[in-house]
Amino acid sequence: MLLLLFISWLFLLADFPVTHPLIWFPLSAVAVLVYAFFIYSAGERELSTEFLLASLIIISGIISALKLQWLKLIFFPVVVTIIYFYPVKVIFRLSLLVPVVGMKDSLSGFVSFLLQKTPFSTETLIEEAAFSLALMLSAVVAGVMSERQKKQKDDIERSLGDIREKAKWVTREAGMESLSNDEMTVHYLASERIANEEIKELLLTIKKAVLADSANFFVPCSKGLELRCTTEDRDYVVTDNGGVIAACLRERRTFSSGNLTENAIDLGYHKKGKTRITSVIAIPISESSAVIGVLAVDSSRYQAFSGIEGTEKTVGMFADHLGRILERQRISRALNRELSGLKILERESSSLVASLKIDEISEKLCKVAEKISGGQSFFFIIQGRNFELKYHTSAVREGPVIFNLSGTIVNFAVENRHRHYVPDLRNYASVNVMPFETEGVLSAMAIPLIYENALLGLLVILSREANFLDASRINLLDIFCNQASTSIANAMLHARIEKMATTDGLTGLFNHRIFQEKLSEQFNRLKRFPEPISLVLADIDHFKRVNDTYGHPVGDLVLKGVAQVLKETIRDIDIPARYGGEEFAVILPGTSSEGARNIAERLRQKVKGAPFSSNGRRIDVSVSIGIATSPSDAKSKEGLIERADKALYHAKRNGRDRCVVWSGISQ
Ligand code: GH3
Ligand code: MG
Ligand code: MG
Repeated sequence: MLLLLFISWLFLLADFPVTHPLIWFPLSAVAVLVYAFFIYSAGERELSTEFLLASLIIISGIISALKLQWLKLIFFPVVVTIIYFYPVKVIFRLSLLVPVVGMKDSLSGFVSFLLQKTPFSTETLIEEAAFSLALMLSAVVAGVMSERQKKQKDDIERSLGDIREKAKWVTREAGMESLSNDEMTVHYLASERIANEEIKELLLTIKKAVLADSANFFVPCSKGLELRCTTEDRDYVVTDNGGVIAACLRERRTFSSGNLTENAIDLGYHKKGKTRITSVIAIPISESSAVIGVLAVDSSRYQAFSGIEGTEKTVGMFADHLGRILERQRISRALNRELSGLKILERESSSLVASLKIDEISEKLCKVAEKISGGQSFFFIIQGRNFELKYHTSAVREGPVIFNLSGTIVNFAVENRHRHYVPDLRNYASVNVMPFETEGVLSAMAIPLIYENALLGLLVILSREANFLDASRINLLDIFCNQASTSIANAMLHARIEKMATTDGLTGLFNHRIFQEKLSEQFNRLKRFPEPISLVLADIDHFKRVNDTYGHPVGDLVLKGVAQVLKETIRDIDIPARYGGEEFAVILPGTSSEGARNIAERLRQKVKGAPFSSNGRRIDVSVSIGIATSPSDAKSKEGLIERADKALYHAKRNGRDRCVVWSGISQ
C-alpha cells in the first residue's frame, strides 16, 4: 500500500494528473479507499496518517489537473481540523507535502533558469512560498493552541484524579465503599464544601475582629503544611514548607511579630505579588489534645496587632473555637462511619441468620469482615485439634486446607479464647503470623468464634497497612463475629441433625431410607448417562450365634467392625449403606458385573481374614454376598434389589461365605 501511495505521489510530481488523469485518479482513489476501509474495519489509528497523505495527494491532483488554484485554500481548514486529532509531528510532515507539490513548477523553472539560463519569473515562486508559509504558520498556531488545550485537560484530569483518590479514602473511612466512584466524589466534595465554608466563615470573622489583611488555616500534609482555608483567594497564599508556622505546629506554641521583614523572619508562607507580610500571629490549633493545624492572621502593616489590647488573646479564643468546629466535624464523620457500619451489620447479619450452610456463612463472614476492615480475611473452622480453612478473600492462597495453628501469632486468640490484635507485626519478626506464608502483611487481627463456651472457628484478618483497625471497626467486627458464631452453631446443629437422619447410628453408614433414595438417583442418572450399576448385598453368616454366644454388645462391635472393613474396601464413588439388621448394601455406579464381583470377593476375604476380638476372645465371622447388575440383570431399581437378594439367598443356600452373581445362577 505504501508503494501505491509513493507511486501516486511521484506521479503527482511528474504532472500525471494533468497528462494521464484516467490512470492517476483511479490509482489514488483506490489508495484512499483502501486506507479508509482499514481504518474503519480495524480502528487502526496508525494507518490514519497514510489515509490523510493519500487524501492530500488526491486533492493536490485535482488542483493541478483542473488548474483550480483557489481550491488550495481548502488546505487551511484541513490542516487546522486534523491538528485536533493528530500529534504535531504528523501534521508537520503533511503540511510539508503541500508546498512541495505547489512549488514544484516554480522550483523546476528556477532550476532550469540556473542551468540553462531560460527566462524565469520569480513571481510564482514568491506566491507559492507565501502560500506555503501561511499554511505552515496556520499549522503551527493551531498546533500550539491544541497542545495548550490538551495540557489544560491533563491538568484538570490530574486534579480530578487527586480529588477522587481523596474521596475514596474519606468515604472508605466513613464506611461507604458501596458508593460508586462518582457518588463518592460528589459526596466528598459536598461534605468538604460544607466543612470548609464553616471554617471560612470563622476566618472572615477573625479577620474583621483583629483588622487583619487575611486569616489562614494550615494543616499538616505529607510535604509539610498545606493551606486548608483562607480569607484570600486560594492561589494567592503560597506555603513554603517550614518557617514559623511549621515551628508553631511542631513546638505547640504561639508566635507573634510586628516586624517580620526587618528581622528577616521566615514565616513559612507568602502572598503572590508584592504584598509583604509584616505582622503576624500564628497559633497552633488543638483538637482533643492533638495539634492538628495552625491559624495565622497577618497584615502588611508594621506592628499591626500590637496596638490593640489583647489581640493575641482574641485570636487565641477564635483558635479554640476553630478547634471545636474541627472536633465536631471529626465526630460527625466518625458517627457517620459508625452509622454506616451499623447499617452493614444490620443488613449482613440478617442474611447470616437466614443461612444454614456453613460454607455460605463462612463466605459471608469473610466478605463482610473485608468490607468492615479493608483487610484480607480467612475463616477457619475447628477440626479436632486442627483448623480447616473454609473460606478466604485472598487472591493468592492455594494448597492444603487443614492446619495446625500452634506456634503462630493467630493461635493466641485460640489459646486465650479472646480476640488478638497486632497493629504492627514488625515487632514480631521471628514469629509466623499464619501457618502459611504471608508476604508484606503489617498487621493482623484474629477473632475466635465461640458459642456457649465452645470454640467453633477463627476469623483472621490481615492487612498490608500497620494499625489498620480503629476501636469502632474492632467493635463492629466483634459484634459481627458474635452473630456469625450463633449462625455457625446453628448450621453445625443442623448438619448434625441431618447426619442423624441420613446415617445409621451404629455403623455410620447411610440408613435404609437414604440407600433407597441414592439407588433411585442412580437409576435417574442412568437415563441420561447409560452405564452399568451394580448392587452388592452382604449378610453376616450365623450372626444370631455371635449374639447368643457373646452377647448383644459384642454383636454390635462385630457389626461396626464389618462396616469399617466395608468402608475400607470400596472406592470413593461407591455408596455403602446398612440395609437391615446384619445386612449391608453397596451401590457401585459405573461398575460391571465382573468389577462388582471383584470388589465383593475382596470384601468377603477381608472379613474372613481379619477376625474380631472381644475380651481376648477371637470371633470369626464370614459374609455371604449377592450381586446383581443393571441393565444386564434387571432394568428397574426394584428388579435389581430383588435379583441381588436372590443371589444372596443362593449364596446362603450353597454353604455361605461366598459371592454369587445373579447372572451366574439365572441360566
Ligand atoms: P444367616 O447366616 O442365615 O444370615 O443367619 P443369621 O443368624 O445371621 O440370620 P438371622 O436373620 O437369623 O439373624 C439375624 C440376627 O441379627 C438377629 C438379630 O438379633 C441380629 N441383629 C439384628 N440387628 C442387630 C443389631 O443391631 N445388633 C445386634 N447385636 N444384633 C442384631
Ligand atoms: Mg445373617
Ligand atoms: Mg439377615
